[in-house]
Amino acid sequence: MKRFYIETFGCQMNVHDSERVAGTLIAMGYSQAASADDADLVLYNTCSIRDKAEQKVYSRLQQYKRAANGRVFGVLGCVAQQEGLRIFERVPHVGLVCGSASYHRLPELIAELESGNRRVAGLSLETGGAFETVYTQRNNPYRAYVTIMEGCDKSCAYCVVPSTRGGERSRPKHSILEEVRKLAGDGWTEIQLLGQNVSSYRDSSNGGCNFAELLVEVAAVRGLKRVRFTTSHPRDFGREIVEAIDANPVLCDHVHLPAQSGSTRVLARMQRQYSREEYLERIEWLKRARRDIAISTDIIVGFPGETEADFEETLRFLEEVRFDSLFSFKYSPRPNTSALVLDGHLPEEEKGRRLTILQNEQRAIQIRRNAELIGSAGEAAVEGYNQATGQWIGRTSQNRIVNFTHASTADGPLEGRYVQVRVTRAGANSLAGESVHLV
Ligand code: SAM
Ligand code: SF4
Repeated sequence: MKRFYIETFGCQMNVHDSERVAGTLIAMGYSQAASADDADLVLYNTCSIRDKAEQKVYSRLQQYKRAANGRVFGVLGCVAQQEGLRIFERVPHVGLVCGSASYHRLPELIAELESGNRRVAGLSLETGGAFETVYTQRNNPYRAYVTIMEGCDKSCAYCVVPSTRGGERSRPKHSILEEVRKLAGDGWTEIQLLGQNVSSYRDSSNGGCNFAELLVEVAAVRGLKRVRFTTSHPRDFGREIVEAIDANPVLCDHVHLPAQSGSTRVLARMQRQYSREEYLERIEWLKRARRDIAISTDIIVGFPGETEADFEETLRFLEEVRFDSLFSFKYSPRPNTSALVLDGHLPEEEKGRRLTILQNEQRAIQIRRNAELIGSAGEAAVEGYNQATGQWIGRTSQNRIVNFTHASTADGPLEGRYVQVRVTRAGANSLAGESVHLV
C-alpha cells in the first residue's frame, strides 16, 4: 500500500482542503504516514498570502533536494496556482503541481503519476467541477469544517486570493445541509462554515437562499450545539446576519469581520468598497444585538501610502470598536496584485514599528475587555487538558480560551463535553476559571 504525507500552511480553508485531499487519497487506497520520511507521496498545501508563507514551502522542498529517494513531491494550493509550471524548473524533484480549483481532478492526476508520468499539473481556474469528496479525513475532533463557497470576486489591491483560488462559486444548499446532517449524526456538535467571503453566499438551486437564510437552516440541524463561520467581507455583511444570530442561540456569539484599516482614505486605496463609517455601522448592529457578540478583525499596517495620520486613525478606530481579538500583518507586496504599482511603499522597519505599536494598543484593550468578564459564567466546549497546570482547556461561544479547574474526578475525561465555567481571572489572550456544572 502506498503512503502519503501532507503538510498544510496558511488559513482554515487550506486546513480543510488538506482534510479533503487526505480523504480523497485514502479513498484511492493510500494510507497516511506520520512523517515525510515514511511516505511515497509528499504533499505541501501552500499559502501565498504573504511572502514569508510562500518562502516556507521552498525551504521545505530544498530540505529534500538530494534525498528524494524515489519519493514523489507535490505542491498544492495557492503557491501552486500562482507559480504554476515554474515550480518544476525551480524544484526539479517536484512531480505534481495543483491549485485548489483543480482538486476534483486529483484522482486522475495521481493516477497519471502512478503510471510513470514525471510531471503532472492541474492549474485550470475553470471551476466546472466542485470539490465534493466521498471521504474527508477530519483532524479536529471538536469542530468540523464545512465549505460553503470557494474563490473570491472582490479585488482588494493587496490580495492574491482571486488569482490563486479563482472567482466566487457557492456550493448548493442541499449538499451543505446533507454534509452537516451527516456530521451531526456522527456526533459532531460544532460546525464551522468556511469561505473567503461567506456573507456573499448565494444558493443558485431552486429559489435561491442568502447567507443569513443558510445560517438559520444549518443552525436548525438536530444535534448541533455551535455553528461558526468565517470570513465575512464587511461590504456584504447585512443586518439579517445579526438578526439570525439573535434568533438562534446555536449560532455562536462571535463574528470575524476583517477591517484592514480604520482610515477611509487607505480603505479606498485598498479597494475594500466600504468606508470607516460604513464599517462602524455594522459594528453598531452587532453591539445592539441581544447577546454580547465578540468581534475580531484583521488589520494590515504599512499599506502603500499609509501616512502617520492614517495609522493614528486606525489606532483610534481600535479604541472605538474595542475588538475582542485581532490578527495584524505588515503589508507584503504580492505578485499579480494592483497595490504593486501604487506609490508610497514603506520601508520594512517602518511597517515593523507600526505593527508593534498596534499590537501593544490591542493588547491593552484585550486586557481591559477580558477583565470585565471576571465573575461572569458561560458555557465552554472542552478541547483538552493541560497536565502541567491541572486545568481543562475550553472555548467559549465568543471564541475565548478559558482554562479551568474541575473538582470532581468522577466525571472522567471532559474533552468534547460542554461545561458551565465561572471566570475568576483574565489575561490578554485567555481567561481562567472554575467549573460550575456539566451541561
Ligand atoms: N477573505 C478574507 C477577507 O476579505 O477579509 C481574508 C482573506 S486573507 C486569507 C486573510 C488576511 O490576510 C486578510 O484579511 C488580510 O488582513 C491579510 N492579507 C491578505 N493579503 C495580504 C498582504 N498582501 N499583506 C499583508 N496581509 C495580507
Ligand atoms: Fe482577498 Fe479581499 Fe477576496 Fe478577502 S475579499 S479574499 S482580502 S480579495
